[in-house]
Amino acid sequence: MKIMFNTASPTAARDRTPRVRITELYAGYPGRPVLHGLSADIPASATTALIGPNGSGKSTLLGVMAGVLEPTSGELRSDGNGPPAFVPQRGAVGDALPLTVRQTVEMGRWGERGPWRRLTRRDRATVEAAMERLGISGLATRQLGELSGGQRQRALIAQGLAQESDLLLLDEPTTGLDPEARDRIAALLGELVADGVTVVQATHDLEAARGADACLLLRDGHLVGQGSPERLLTPSTLAQVWQPA
Ligand code: ADP
Repeated sequence: MKIMFNTASPTAARDRTPRVRITELYAGYPGRPVLHGLSADIPASATTALIGPNGSGKSTLLGVMAGVLEPTSGELRSDGNGPPAFVPQRGAVGDALPLTVRQTVEMGRWGERGPWRRLTRRDRATVEAAMERLGISGLATRQLGELSGGQRQRALIAQGLAQESDLLLLDEPTTGLDPEARDRIAALLGELVADGVTVVQATHDLEAARGADACLLLRDGHLVGQGSPERLLTPSTLAQVWQPA
């Protein structure tokens, strides 16, 4: 089964060079192949939602795009500046670490500065701007572990933003959040896209996927469809993907 439509909605970047072009990608873990010959385009300055059942390979695909997982074969062509910013799943971030919000966001500058070098004035300005953008300046001195789920997620997105990358990869950014926090994050991501950032998010949340410009639908490590949410996320397609294998 393969469902292919034009990649993006009319308002999105249909005719532009994709930000990332994935060709015949195979990837996985020792003794556990996960992605099987996946080819897809990630449109630039748009939001792409990766959707599919648990275990379908969404996080693995993000890991390859983030450069933390080496593909077994295939190609990933990136048409942008510098490495992507990766916001992993909340559970993957040690909530017990004694870090303030500001320290968390400052870690976004480590890629350029290294953890042991003092931050420059420009680094600090970037960190403050990222916190302001995410509405967490007032929380700068609070410990990450004290925050609500939505606040913590905004701190992690601010860390990604502080990297000043034009490609932001998010793994389940709204899982476990209340509707208000979800809406806030969706609105913030929309603003970043309007500024030219390319956003890719793995999500279980069909509402979030419906708000994306493009969707990649995965099942068992195969891409079974790509296109605009209006075309792709129909009841029959979803039923095919979520039916028992
Ligand atoms: P999704 O994000 O869609 O839930 P994942 O990419 O996390 O899917 O997982 C795809 C498959 O890879 C699953 O079967 C999962 O058990 C397996 N997997 C994920 N991470 C690892 C790992 N570190 N080592 C071995 N297998 C893994």
